[in-house]
Amino acid sequence: MFKKVLIANRGEIAIRILRACKELGIRTVAVHSEIDSSLMHVKFADESVCIGPNSSAKSYLNISSILSAAELTGADAIHPGVGFLSENSHFAHMVAEHNIAFIGPSPQHLSMMGDKIVAKKTMQSLGIPVVNGSEGVINDIDAALKTANNIGYPVILKASLGGGGKGMKVSNNPDELRLNFKLAKSESKVNFGSDAIYLEKYLTNPKHIEIQIICDNYGNVLFLGERECSIQRNNQKLMEESPSTVLNDEQRCNIGNIVVNAFKNIGYSGVATIEFLYDNGQFFFMEVNPRLQVEHSVTEQVTGIDIVKEQIKIASGEKLSIKQEDIKMKGHAIEFRINAEDSKTFAPCPGKIEELYFPGGNGIRVDSHIYRNYIVPPYYDSLVAKIIVHASTRNECLNKAFCALDELVIDGINTTTELHKKLIQEKDIRSGNFDIHWLEHNIARL
Ligand code: ADP
Repeated sequence: MFKKVLIANRGEIAIRILRACKELGIRTVAVHSEIDSSLMHVKFADESVCIGPNSSAKSYLNISSILSAAELTGADAIHPGVGFLSENSHFAHMVAEHNIAFIGPSPQHLSMMGDKIVAKKTMQSLGIPVVNGSEGVINDIDAALKTANNIGYPVILKASLGGGGKGMKVSNNPDELRLNFKLAKSESKVNFGSDAIYLEKYLTNPKHIEIQIICDNYGNVLFLGERECSIQRNNQKLMEESPSTVLNDEQRCNIGNIVVNAFKNIGYSGVATIEFLYDNGQFFFMEVNPRLQVEHSVTEQVTGIDIVKEQIKIASGEKLSIKQEDIKMKGHAIEFRINAEDSKTFAPCPGKIEELYFPGGNGIRVDSHIYRNYIVPPYYDSLVAKIIVHASTRNECLNKAFCALDELVIDGINTTTELHKKLIQEKDIRSGNFDIHWLEHNIARL
């Protein structure tokens, strides 16, 4: 097992990882930007190193600074967390070059999954169902028009190296496609450094359903059920749950087996989430997130498995001790993302937290890094807390969640709390009758 892990992240996820390390008896190193020196994980860690000024580019994305901190403190592993450098194959490669373990998949697998076209082709060749679309990169408008004509409108253009919901353009007809083609290419170049884009059928009413897996270095791959994350704003998740209301055991088992076989085939090691759009009983592959995800906690609540501890154990070379038949999903869990943002426009609302009270009680889990008088900085992700609720049925879970959100006090900044309370009372949300566009269609009324 590792002796000392450097946590190359911030916020709630840094605390989450720190807790897992402590439980495993591993010493911890926190790294932080100048403004983040008073974050809780910095206080809780055994050692801490300031890695640069406030901008992410100069701190949490600063590879040489993070590697220096690891060398200086003698860390034998780096956990990249989520976002920042967690999917950066160059970083994973550099970490290995310094004889430090990267808690994540191999640089090769990171590159494969980071290029969405390569990932889609690979997954398709392994029997995973994909959305109809272009063969690969689409270079000229004539090819785009031809493909769109074959598969039918609407279509979506996506950046091959895209992420974070950015760089996607939907077109309903050839004229829109002509316009969007140029825009998508240039936006992709500006945001992701490559103008490689591809085209696929735009599904108008799908759900977002993702599959969580854990793989060790010995060919063992476990399937930890699914999460439904259809409630989104700006293509980013706001509320996640497990299980999904629309899957039965047979469908769950089928998609789980397909994914497990594919990942065994490529010899993947680490945790991963395979994201699908789900439409009319069918799954369509979207992308692989070859890392821990923010919403992993939902799966932890229904399976009872500590995904972060398992991830660290696998990276240190341990064999998975759990068997597929031991994994039983129990009850229902929902995560509510509490973001420091306006609940109508979703514009970030940084500022000082004047008053704070977290809910508690049976089945309520709060993952957060904030405290009274903490100032939410404007430089990073707006997530300030995750309220994860677990109960025996979905209905009970929603009732319990309403009470928990009602108890939650975060004064001084705007948050998504009130929006979540409204969502819980909506008939469609209660019945599971929603798709990825539900929130955008209903936000004005809410
Ligand atoms: P990113 O990596 O930027 O998050 P994804 O490929 O995961 O990009 O897509 C993000 C979101 O965009 C999805 O959750 C979904 O809401 C929407 N989306 C992506 N592809 C399609 C598609 N073919 N049809 C409909 N919606 C899509």
